[in-house]
Amino acid sequence: MSEFKENAGVTKLTVGVSSCLLGEAVRYDGGHKANSHIMGTLAEYFEFRSFCPEIDIGLGVPRAPIRLTRKQSHDIRCIAIDDAATDYTGALGNCADGQRSWHQNLCGYIFKQGSPSCGMAGVKVWGELAPGLDGIGVYAGKTMQNFPGLPCEEECSLGDNVRRENFIKRVLAMGRWHELHERGFSIQRLWDFHNCHLDILMRHDRDGCEQLETLLTKTTGDLLLENAGIYLIQFMAVLKARQAGEILR
Ligand code: SF4
Repeated sequence: MSEFKENAGVTKLTVGVSSCLLGEAVRYDGGHKANSHIMGTLAEYFEFRSFCPEIDIGLGVPRAPIRLTRKQSHDIRCIAIDDAATDYTGALGNCADGQRSWHQNLCGYIFKQGSPSCGMAGVKVWGELAPGLDGIGVYAGKTMQNFPGLPCEEECSLGDNVRRENFIKRVLAMGRWHELHERGFSIQRLWDFHNCHLDILMRHDRDGCEQLETLLTKTTGDLLLENAGIYLIQFMAVLKARQAGEILR
């Protein structure tokens, strides 16, 4: 947990998390999925903002389970298992949009793997043939679409030391990005931010780091805000890239 040392003594950064991962009994069956890595180590350093989209849209506990289903049009919808006519896709997407005011202040998000609402990728999609694993939870997908620079992981990744450390790096960097945003963007401040992360960027992806510098070089005053947004997305992608010598299992 070497990355934490640089953050010692600083106000805890806020990370969104699927409520069931914090031991809250919000799952369809009245259970939870408490995760020891999140509730133990990470809770010492991050402030968690728990949220369950299925509760937010008015589904109770217990409730009939929902799942992703591929329609004949190949459109993927999130529907109730016991009533195919009850479609929650729009409600869950709108739910994500409705959380923008606090999502925009987050430094990261930890989603529940495999959930038709919260899964980031590889969610089971039911159809006429055998289920596929190419779905994205509706709430998680919309949240990532709204904030493409936000560091996101599923809880299963955080059991792996390399992936957990990588997520932490990105969360800490996002905290510094928020500080920059609060002070106000300028071309010089973007370069300062970049240079402050130069070593780690070069270690992760030298080409990606140079592309970031090209972007900053081309940035003029009228492109400042637009390019700052592009920079953040590319910066996080570089930081997430596998570092030489790392073993991602
Ligand atoms: S995975 Fe998401 S929707 Fe399902 S219980 Fe957990 S927080 Fe709620």
